[in-house]
Amino acid sequence: MAKSLCLTTCLLLLAVPCVYAQAPFTVGSVTAAPGSIASGTLDVAPRAGDAGTSIPFTIVHGRTSGPVLALIAGTHGMEYVPIIALQRLRTAIDPGTLRGTVIMVHVANMPSFLGRTIYYSPVDGKNLNRVFPGRGDGTLTERIAETLTREVITRATHVVDLHCGDGNESLAPYSYWITTGPAGVADEGRAMALAFGLDHIVVDRERPTDPAASLYLSNTAITRGKPALTTETGGMAVVDDGAIALVERGVSGLLRHLKMRADGPAPVTGPIFIGRNEVIRAGVTGIFVPAVERGRTVAKGAKIGHITDFHGRVIEEVLASFDGEILYIIGTPPVTKGEPVAMVGSRQ
Ligand SMILES: [Zn+2]
Repeated sequence: MAKSLCLTTCLLLLAVPCVYAQAPFTVGSVTAAPGSIASGTLDVAPRAGDAGTSIPFTIVHGRTSGPVLALIAGTHGMEYVPIIALQRLRTAIDPGTLRGTVIMVHVANMPSFLGRTIYYSPVDGKNLNRVFPGRGDGTLTERIAETLTREVITRATHVVDLHCGDGNESLAPYSYWITTGPAGVADEGRAMALAFGLDHIVVDRERPTDPAASLYLSNTAITRGKPALTTETGGMAVVDDGAIALVERGVSGLLRHLKMRADGPAPVTGPIFIGRNEVIRAGVTGIFVPAVERGRTVAKGAKIGHITDFHGRVIEEVLASFDGEILYIIGTPPVTKGEPVAMVGSRQ
């Protein structure tokens, strides 16, 4: 009897690691053992005259298997709040108690970060968040997208593209809930938006559905059947502790929602779904002078700002086309014809 009990106990002890343990996790040339943190870079090789680049990332690999959550910052290089938030989160998630795996991409777009450019890469003039899923034989921005798709998005079960207002955008925090994609993916995306905790949630029904032309990072995950979220916190190139705290809180909420960590903040109560939104674009090139602040309510026809020529003469009035809230507004003077000057949203 005693022998039998002992044998059973031994078998149970042997079985425990088999049931719960997971294999090491590898991204690029970096491998994290279960219960550990590993950091390194994804290298994008030089090609056709450019110098290539590298993408710094961290794997936080739990001891037990579970979701693989990708957190990607710096798609736009002057969006500092999520970049600094991930610097802090790197050591704030304990791999010893984590279920599953977190992949953090610290600066997706290093040429834009080091070049201090808004919207576009200083190398090829392309917007990284408009060239997904990318091309292995393309320009540098397209190769960054292809690397992120292949090494990060493909490996993840859930993806968050962490943005903020760009270096020229004064922004009130919100998430994008993308409703397109395979069945079930949109529902889980909604749940992720609630778990992240920002109370304004823009309902986005207009993303492409073709995986080969997904254009946006989060949409690249969605068109591959993986729930994803885009978040916007902070802006104007300010490293703002309050906005950083929103990202930290949001990630903690997601870890709880995905049952990767036992504790964490509850989902937002009373979310405000923005059912209609419009990005107002400059009709002319010149100097933008804002008339309202982010978060303000505007009525249809209200003045949002104006654009002058380079001698100070008003050449365009910018008006709200419907009743809504200012989700972001340009906060620095330069504006080029066709570029955004503000985003207005209305509650559904
Ligand atoms: Zn952005």
